Parts: sequence; C-alpha cells; structure tokens
Amino acid sequence: MRRPVMAGNWKMFKTQEETRDFFDAFEKLVAASTHCDIVICPPYTAIAAAKAASRGSQIHIGAQDLHWEKQGAFTGEVSPQMLTEAGCAYVIIGHSERRQFFGETDETVHRKVKAALEANLAPIVCVGELLAEREGGRTEAVLEQQFTGGFGALTPGQFSRIIIAYEPVWAIGTGRTATPEIAAEAHRFLRGLAAKRFSPEHAAAVRILYGGSVKPDNVKGLMAQVEIDGALVGGASLDAQSFASIVNF
Ligand code: PEP
Repeated sequence: MRRPVMAGNWKMFKTQEETRDFFDAFEKLVAASTHCDIVICPPYTAIAAAKAASRGSQIHIGAQDLHWEKQGAFTGEVSPQMLTEAGCAYVIIGHSERRQFFGETDETVHRKVKAALEANLAPIVCVGELLAEREGGRTEAVLEQQFTGGFGALTPGQFSRIIIAYEPVWAIGTGRTATPEIAAEAHRFLRGLAAKRFSPEHAAAVRILYGGSVKPDNVKGLMAQVEIDGALVGGASLDAQSFASIVNF
C-alpha cells in the first residue's frame, strides 16, 4: 500500500552535459516503470538541465539541500522557492555528509523540513547512526534523537508529507550494505516512533527508504522486506544502466 520511491543522490558529480547524457540513456530504460516514484537529485547547477531533459517523463527532480529562508544575505545558499522554480519536487535534508562536514544539526533539519513543506517540496529526511554508535549499542538512541529533533515537532499533517531515509553512516559509499534484516529492524523502530509521536495510521503510511551501498545485485533482497519502501542511492545512481536496474528491481 506504500508506493516505493527510488531516489538517486548524485552528490557533487555530473556537469550539465553529463546530466543530459545520463537522461538520454536513463529515460528509455525506465519508460515502462510505473511501479514506483523515480527521483534524481543532481547538484544545483544541473537541476535546470535535468528538469529540461526529464520533461515528458515520469522522472522527478530533487535537490540535495536547501536553506530555510525564502531569501536573504546567506552567501552560497539556495531557498526552497528557488528550488521549486527550478523544477524540483523533492529535496534531501539532513544527509549524513551534511551533518558530518557542514554542521547540519537536528535543529537545522527541523527548520529545513518545515520550509520545504511550505514551498510544496517533498522532503526526504535522512537519519542514521555512525559505526561507533552501532557498535556501542546506541543505534536506537541516535535514531530517536534524530527523529524527535528533526521532525518530532511537525504537525501530523506535515509529518504525513515527509519521506524518511534510514542511512546507516557506516554503509554509505563503503560498499558495506546493511543486511536486509538490519535495515528492516531500524525501519520498524522508526515506524514505532512515528506511531508513538503521531498515530498508528501515520506510522503505517510513512515511506521509509533505505540508503547505504544499494546496488543492482542487493536491491531485490532489501526490497523483499515489507518495512523497506524504496532506496536512496548514491554511487550506483550515477550510471544510467545501474540505476535503471535498481529502479526495475
Ligand atoms: C547516499 O549518498 O545517500 C548513499 C546512500 O550513497 P551510496 O549509495 O554510494 O552508499
């Protein structure tokens, strides 16, 4: 009953020309794929090229971050309204690389989620524990803190419009995927938090994606878990053939 989402996070890869080349190949490979929502999140500079190249297809465009203000003296930042105008329907918020390298906190995640919703963007909000936190038995405490700080203060109506991405940091870009069982366990825990904070109906409806070294050869096993509603894919989304195989799992 939850429609899967397959989202590609291109990080700081691809020029506008490379973006057009990707879409030339990718669009044909997913033209018949109506079983899920398909999202590509290029760098800011390639959003317009991606939007133009995807016109007429069912592929949605997203951004990798945003600022929470509409405009202002915030050098280097991009507002939600600017993303909507450029053609984005989705935005990734709170990616672990932003948390680790660019000072993202649960507080800024919370502000960004609210601002994205106001601008009619669908936020894909990332949570996930570090390796040391998992090994120290603190996975659930970390997820609870990120859940509460990042979106626990939303209204039920706002919460029903977000997508959560569970991305254990130790699995991102490492080739070390969480087993389907480990991922499903974390998803179940997050759904339990949603039931407690919002309602069982909200918990049953929220889409939770898994992210962390998803590849064409492991996507089937992950998607076989009822708790897993799709994937947020980094490295393997850069190649049209490989991301299409993931979409068409
Ligand atoms: C990501 O960037 O969100 C991600 C999951 O990367 P990768 O698939 O490369 O691990």
